[in-house]
Parts: sequence; structure tokens; C-alpha cells
Amino acid sequence: MPMNIASFPGRRVWLTRALACLGGTALLPRPSSAAVDDSSSLSGSNMPYAAFDALPAESIDLDGARLRVAFGPGTFEISRERIVEYVRRSARSVVAYFGRFPARETRLLILNTVSPGRPVRSGTAFGYGGAAIKLTLAAGVRAEDLDRDWVLVHEMSHLALPSLPRRHHWFEEGVASYVEPLARAQAGMLGTEQVWGDMVKGMPQGLPQAGDQGLDHTPTWGRTYWGGALFCLLADVEMRKATAGRKGLQHALRAILEHGNIERDSSLEPLLHIGDRAVGVPVLAGLYERMKDRPCPVDLDALWHNLGVRLGAQDLQFDDRAPLSFVRLALTLPFASTG
Ligand SMILES: [Zn+2]
Repeated sequence: MPMNIASFPGRRVWLTRALACLGGTALLPRPSSAAVDDSSSLSGSNMPYAAFDALPAESIDLDGARLRVAFGPGTFEISRERIVEYVRRSARSVVAYFGRFPARETRLLILNTVSPGRPVRSGTAFGYGGAAIKLTLAAGVRAEDLDRDWVLVHEMSHLALPSLPRRHHWFEEGVASYVEPLARAQAGMLGTEQVWGDMVKGMPQGLPQAGDQGLDHTPTWGRTYWGGALFCLLADVEMRKATAGRKGLQHALRAILEHGNIERDSSLEPLLHIGDRAVGVPVLAGLYERMKDRPCPVDLDALWHNLGVRLGAQDLQFDDRAPLSFVRLALTLPFASTG
């Protein structure tokens, strides 16, 4: 179905995606001993676990998992109930993708800012003191801003992967960046045109540039976020091809989550083997071997062509006769339909 290119709000969003996930999960300071009533600790880069526990929180039940939502100081123009509803909806898409919410107990601290900027200002996921997310929203955030938001689903997706060493930060950001639009599409929150339009426009930023030394040794913004997402897409495509569409990265990531979530530290290699075992083909390990310490160029034009994604000057079209169109279709269908 054609889609006017001007209606891609995600284009700008993807370009600024990294700014909203500053620090991610692996580059964060350890817990501070900030006083519970020190409001300055609420705006620092460090998640104030202690401050969270001092605030009244609302519980969201997610099939046995509990998400506790607390609000920092300040008031929003929309109701807190509307914000909690957005949290619940975001969590539901993550549950649909991973099969369950990634942590049994998760703390979500919502902060309020009156400074000018994007309505969903920033998010950060934490694991060292229990699964937690800090999300900052503009005081004037509108309901439609929340309906379009990707930040919270991105941060919730971080919870599903163990904390990795710094050189593997690209895998943490790659998984969260890749899963987020697919989880929202599978939950009916994002159109497939948007998913693929954003990928076609964004993925070139993940390609190796001059001087690249592979994903483990090139910690640039493009290689970390988009390079990591490209690794995930390539893995997903290879898995689906090798299993006639039956299994993909979603199966691998569900198996990895059963091994441990963000609250656990891990090295990357065992996780890749767990994922490969769940799918039955050694795709992740082989791809990592090829991409970890060398540029490994990718022919994106051929990939989009084979997946049946055609981005023209004015619109995006799908070609269901393309050889890998079954892969493209599988990625945005609810898990039950393909698993
Ligand atoms: Zn992130």
C-alpha cells in the first residue's frame, strides 16, 4: 500500500533516537546514595531507586509481573490516568513480543520537565538495583504524543536482555531499537509502512564507514544503534530463511530472556548460543563472527529488494512476489501466527 513519504514522523524520530537513550544500560554510574527527599536526585543521570521508593506508586499487573509507576514532582496537562494507560499499552506490546513482561518487578519513574524540547524527552533502563526505567515527559505532553511514542517500548525492551560488557553495547541498543517497532506493529500500534519506511531510511546509518573495525570496536552512534539493529535484521532474515519462516530472532530473544534479564550480567557469546539453540541454526554466532572485528559491508538495496520493500521518491510499496516477502510479513505478525 502506498504511503506518502511526508507522513513519516518516524523519520525524524529515528535520527534522534540515540539522544533519548543516553547511557543505555552499560554506561551508567553505579547507584548513588542520594537522599530520598533530595529532589535534585530526580533529575540526575543516575536512577534514584531510593527516591522512587519514597513516592506513592500505582501498580500495573501484567499477567503475574508487576510494574510500579511513580511520578516525580510537577503536573502534566493530561491526566496521570492517561499516562498510566500509555504505560500499560506500551507494556502490553512488550509482553506480546517477548511472551511475558521481562521482569517480575519493575519500577518506572516518570519525571516532568518544563524545558522546551520533544514531548517524550528521554528514557533510560536500569538493572543493577532491580529492573527500572526513568522516563521524562514534557509537562505539556499530549495524548497523541504518547500514542506515537517509541521511547518507552524501547526502554522496556532493554529489560529483556542481560547487561553486557561495554564493547557489546551495540547489541543492547541494536536489540531494543530493532524490537521496538516490531513489537508495536505486532500489537497493532504501528503500521507496517512505518516500520519498513523507517528501516529503509535508517539502516544505512548502521553501515561501516571508513576506518571501521567491526561492531565490537567501533562505538559510534551509527554503528551502536543502527549497526546493532542491522545485525538483528540480518539475523532474523537468515533464521527465517533457514527455517522456512517458522522461527526467527523473536524466538531467540525469548529464549535469551529465559536465561536472564537486565538484572543479570552476562557476556555476549553465551546469549548468542542460547538464541541459536532455540531457533536450531547457528545464525547469531556466525553473524557475530563475521561482524565483530571487521567492517562486513551489507548490500541493503539487495536486501530490501528481496524482502519486497520499495521506497520510491513519493511512497513506499510492498512486493509480495519478492523472494523473501514471507520473512517481511512474518516479522510484523503476532507471534502466535508464526510460532
Ligand atoms: Zn536504548
